[in-house]
Parts: sequence; C-alpha cells; structure tokens
Amino acid sequence: MKLIILGPAGAGKGTQSEFIVDAYSIAHISTGDIFRKNLKEGTPLGLKAKEYMDGGLLVPDALTVEMLISRISESDCQNGYLLDGFPRSLAQADALEAAGEAIDQVLLIDVDYSLLTERIVGRRVCPECGAAFHISNNPPKIEGICDKCGAELVHRPDDKEETIKARLVEYDEKTKPLIGYYEEKSLLAKVGGDKPIAQVSQAIKQILDSL
Ligand code: AMP
Repeated sequence: MKLIILGPAGAGKGTQSEFIVDAYSIAHISTGDIFRKNLKEGTPLGLKAKEYMDGGLLVPDALTVEMLISRISESDCQNGYLLDGFPRSLAQADALEAAGEAIDQVLLIDVDYSLLTERIVGRRVCPECGAAFHISNNPPKIEGICDKCGAELVHRPDDKEETIKARLVEYDEKTKPLIGYYEEKSLLAKVGGDKPIAQVSQAIKQILDSL
C-alpha cells in the first residue's frame, strides 16, 4: 500500500500517520522529520534545509526529491509506505510519478484554517521518534515527556505564530494545486480534520479498508 497524506500544517497529518502506519504495517516517511534528523546530525543537507524551514518556506524541490527517492528505495518500504509531507509541489508529484511509484490513495485532511494556529502553537513533538502531542487536545501522560520513547518533548522553532503564516502561504500557493492533480487521477479522498482525533482515524480506516 503506497499512500500520501496531504493537508496544511496543523491538520493532524503526523498524528493520523502514526495510526495509519501501525494499523497497516507500512513505513512512515516524513520529509520534515528527515530534514530535522539531518539538522540534528549537522549534515550539509540539514544545514541547507534549515535556511528554508526556519522561515516557513519549502526546501527546494531538487534537494527534497533526491532525498525522498533514496529513502523509499530502502528495504522497509517494500511493504508500502505513507508519505507525510511529500509531495508539497507539482514538481515533486511529477518526480514521484516519473520514478515509477504507483500511489494507491491520497488522503486530504481538510480543516478550517482558523483552527490551525492554536493547534500548531500548542504542539509539542518528540525529537527522537517524531511523535506529536498537543498541550491541551492530546497531552502526553507525563508533561513534557514522550509517551512512546521517554524523550523530552520540544516546541519546534517553526511552530511559532510568526512562521505559521508563511507556512500556510506556501501551502496555498505550492501544495494546494496537488488536490486537483490527484483528483484528476481519481486518487483523492477527503477527510474532515476538524473532528476529534479518534473520529478522524475512523474515517481514514473506512477509506483504506475499502481499497
Ligand atoms: P513538516 O514537518 O512536514 O511540517 O515540515 C517542516 C518543514 O520542512 C517545512 O515547513 C519545509 O520547510 C520542510 N519540508 C518538509 N517536507 C518538505 C517537502 N516535501 N518539500 C519542501 N520542503 C519540505
């Protein structure tokens, strides 16, 4: 099963991705997580990506595509994968198709933008395993500590109110055209992301179980 999850920052892509990869035993590929891991390790790719991430801008397509294509050729992707945060532009979607990757389903998490800032500002993420929490909507069992691996949670530098606006502009301009792109290929399913986490997961499960 090869899946893509689409939606603006704060829609709940990361949270629903955790549910999907566990339920369907596929690899979770988050390009944002890969960039953050590279940054933590101080690689040239991570340092280059930081220049864009800090401003809420997309990392250039060439860098992102090369990294993604190499990642999905790894053995844990043989059973399938969920792409979370990729593609984010038409050029990235074209590159995925040109690489011969046949996508089974694209899930669009549709949310009212007025909800996003509060969701993003309150988000806390695990720098080790990538799990995401929210200080009030989805708090960890112990404040500040990841339920999954026990690492200390962090507030991402690009989850600040000033950067969120730029991220949403990038989404509107570069990523939204992918909705029409995948609709034309009859691959898109929309899921209402305004509801509680478990209800959104249930709606996703219904779509994926009918594939
Ligand atoms: P995310 O963790 O998905 O919210 O991504 C965080 C940041 O990483 C984004 O704001 C971009 O700067 C960068 N990024 C992640 N995925 C991509 C992508 N597919 N194309 C370009 N930039 C990306």
